[in-house]
Amino acid sequence: MSRAAIIGGGVIGGGWAARFLLNGWDVAIYDPDPEAARKINDVLAGARRALPMLYDRALPAEGELTFCETLEDAVTGAIWIQESVPERLALKQSILKSLQDTVSERAVIGSSTSGFKPSDLQKGAMRPGQIIVTHPFNPVYLIPLVEVVGSAANDDAFLTAAEATLTQLGMFPLRVRAEIDAHIADRLLEAVWREALWLVSDGIATTEDIDNAIRYGFGLRWAQMGLFETYRIAGGEAGMTHFMEQFGPALSWPWTKLMDVPEFTPELVDLIASQSDQQSGALDIRALERLRDDNLVALMRALKQRDAAAGALLNAHEATLGKPQTAVPLVSVRRVIPVDWTDYNGHMNEGRYGQVFSDAADAVMAEIGADAAYIAGGLSYFTVETTINYLVETHAGEVVEVHSRITLADGKKLRIWHEMIRRADGVVLANCDQFLLHVSLETRASCRPAPQVLARLDALVKQHGATE
Ligand code: NAD
Repeated sequence: MSRAAIIGGGVIGGGWAARFLLNGWDVAIYDPDPEAARKINDVLAGARRALPMLYDRALPAEGELTFCETLEDAVTGAIWIQESVPERLALKQSILKSLQDTVSERAVIGSSTSGFKPSDLQKGAMRPGQIIVTHPFNPVYLIPLVEVVGSAANDDAFLTAAEATLTQLGMFPLRVRAEIDAHIADRLLEAVWREALWLVSDGIATTEDIDNAIRYGFGLRWAQMGLFETYRIAGGEAGMTHFMEQFGPALSWPWTKLMDVPEFTPELVDLIASQSDQQSGALDIRALERLRDDNLVALMRALKQRDAAAGALLNAHEATLGKPQTAVPLVSVRRVIPVDWTDYNGHMNEGRYGQVFSDAADAVMAEIGADAAYIAGGLSYFTVETTINYLVETHAGEVVEVHSRITLADGKKLRIWHEMIRRADGVVLANCDQFLLHVSLETRASCRPAPQVLARLDALVKQHGATE
């Protein structure tokens, strides 16, 4: 089992701990704050609810979490060390320096720093080559982006290997081509934030107006295409060159405040804090986090269905996750119920039961050899009848399994009995009787399956018995 050490377990360290743990890594945390364990467990509770909902397969079994008394205990045996202490250069340098006495030479030491360059962090270190910047985004367990920055002291193979590890964690490593203060994304965000502060300070907009301008407008475009691809389309058929010609001159007009920063007077801080209270004060931070996470899950699942942007990344990661083991009965589905599958009654919508049992049937098809290659050869099964019994309410966040049994395999006729079971207590939430006919995709008429499929079915019927 791979082990990660998290140094500093605040907002970001807690998020990293969740990202590693829920992807099957053991995690050791060092944070001298006596409240650290409570805070991390809060973050973990949110992550355990949200992250698995992104996937239509189960994540690996969760790793083991240990809280350590010393930095040395935490980093011993770790192959990835993620430093996430407060953004103070001297503190980061001294921690990075002292942990190198214990840490394996081959381990990756990543820093979550939002602003410092790797060469700043590496100053005074024993082995600068193993220290890099791996800058994540909050919440680290859901947002895939992580900026990877090296200095002249880091060789390319080391950075590439670190990126491979981040990819295995379901993240999107973005290599920053040359080290620079604040990397890429925070420079963009700072420009937007600076303009927003001016707009509020000048009384042009409230904090809520600014947020509305983003969430009803360009925020939707940015989440799926970013800036340049969106502007290419905005240029119409003439494309990017035309867009640049049309809007380029505006950049030299005084639309923006650019480098000026409004003075952080107590009045400005009060103005922003009170507008923010008015806008969002009805919910506490944990409730806002849950709202944010559920919305992120729903957005990313929509993109997943389109195989676009962060959704394409999820599909690629999901393909690396193990399928449920085949046994008796056949575990054809193992997954979490995502938040976008529930309806106004607060439980899973009936159409989604159909989807779960259809996914279960696909797994059975793969098991009997009626898979994509078989279909490409012109033969398949069509479902002709399905009866579903909804027994107990199913809620978002619940881990379920479908156990499937072949109850009839007679020439072209096939009957499958599925039970959807809640993993926590084994309660059967729903069952489904499914009748299928084997067909020729050429004639669209029923026909006998290929001999190898019949033989596999024969074996399964014997194993599964005629339980119905
Ligand atoms: P935070 O204040 O929430 O957490 C910092 C944690 O470090 C605290 O729990 C503190 O007890 C602990 N700590 C302090 N001294 C320590 C020491 N000597 N050894 C071990 N732990 C120690 O801060 P944060 O927001 O999690 O930020 C951490 C880092 O992540 C910063 O470098 C920040 O720039 C970066 N970052 C923050 C965000 C964000 O949105 N908050 C996003 C990306 C990166």
